[in-house]
Amino acid sequence: MELLTPAEDLDRLGDEIAELSAHIEAATAPLLDLIREFDARGGWNTGFRSCAAWLGWRVGLDPGAARERVRVARALGTLPRLARALACGELSYAKVRALTRVATPETEERLLAVGRAGTAAHVERIVRGWRRVDRIAEAREDAQRHKGRALHVYQDEDGMVVVRGRLAPEVGAVLVQALAAARETLYQRSHEKNVSAETPPMEEPPTRAQQQADALALLAETALHHGIDPGTPGERYQVVVHVDAPVLADPDAPGQSVLEDGTHVSAETSRRLACDATRVVMRHSPDGRVVEVGARTRTIPPALRRALQHRDRGCRFPGCGLPFGQGHHLRHWAHGGPTTLSNLALLCRRHHRAVHEEGYQVEREPGGELRFRRPDGWLLPEVPPPAAIPADPVQALRARHEAQGLRIHPRTAMPGWLGEGLDVGYAIDVLHPLAAR
Ligand SMILES: [Zn+2]
Ligand SMILES: [Zn+2]
Repeated sequence: MELLTPAEDLDRLGDEIAELSAHIEAATAPLLDLIREFDARGGWNTGFRSCAAWLGWRVGLDPGAARERVRVARALGTLPRLARALACGELSYAKVRALTRVATPETEERLLAVGRAGTAAHVERIVRGWRRVDRIAEAREDAQRHKGRALHVYQDEDGMVVVRGRLAPEVGAVLVQALAAARETLYQRSHEKNVSAETPPMEEPPTRAQQQADALALLAETALHHGIDPGTPGERYQVVVHVDAPVLADPDAPGQSVLEDGTHVSAETSRRLACDATRVVMRHSPDGRVVEVGARTRTIPPALRRALQHRDRGCRFPGCGLPFGQGHHLRHWAHGGPTTLSNLALLCRRHHRAVHEEGYQVEREPGGELRFRRPDGWLLPEVPPPAAIPADPVQALRARHEAQGLRIHPRTAMPGWLGEGLDVGYAIDVLHPLAAR
């Protein structure tokens, strides 16, 4: 047994901390590789909103940490140098996490040097400064684009009107969508007629450009005819479902289930929309006429909704917990299920869809607990049991790294920093490709 002075003993303790930390950080790299693959292959898509939500549920990470793991895992897919530096214990996860917020394949090399030289605090400050430059450049570009919006309308020598312009991307998207809708209205039907009539059309079908011109004319006429009113968002996205009462009770029953424009939706979807909706029930006579309006509305009364929100606090699906939700009738009211607290469970929109349309099942145990099952019947526990780990995880980790040929020692993750002050402004000027020199 060698004899150590207290100072030497503490040094050794410090070395041990540094070495084990480096081992753990290095082990984060293969973990992120696994997460990236799991994410890309959609392994989490078994009732969870995202890979991060799955991680939070399965591994017990807090939501912010889970989101960061997924983000960093994705980023490292295109940043091999940073990934390698993490894998050999050279850069800590904290440094890699910060660097991946700004790194691109072009700047990766330079930022890796920053990570090697500085402490985690230095790296954080440089990344913040880097982002500021990025944001300024981005805002400048955005302002430039916005300033460049223009629409020129003028008459040509032959009397035709020429339209030429540059629109902001989101405005352009609306225009393209509107033109497509107008084109469809103008040409879909005539096309169908031509196909079914099996007679050659009298003249050449209009070209795409001609169709666009006609569509624009229709848009202008429609706007002037209906008055220029973009409507409230609620009106624009309102969905009206017409569903026959028997279909609501039994999805296999014959009957219609269509949106206002005639689009057919599945019976399951109409059941979900009816499960918690403010709506007016219209009764149709067999020939389709509306015979009765508002005879029955099925909404959860405000007091009950408050009680539901208070009891459930958020979506009850395992691992979700989103604070806002819809009241799901465990037994659908079309089957006589009562609108009472014990027959309701709060589910977010995503998970309300999961139980109505994707085959997930939920039922209440006699004790009041909810039980969720996957479509294959597998029980989704509220908190999954932790994974089995070896009796001595530290030794197992060391052995694994040794087998990989990784040489990790107490100085593997030491920054090159010698204690001099950090001039972030200078560092950014030198490093950032867009920095104003
Ligand atoms: Zn429901
Ligand atoms: Zn949910």
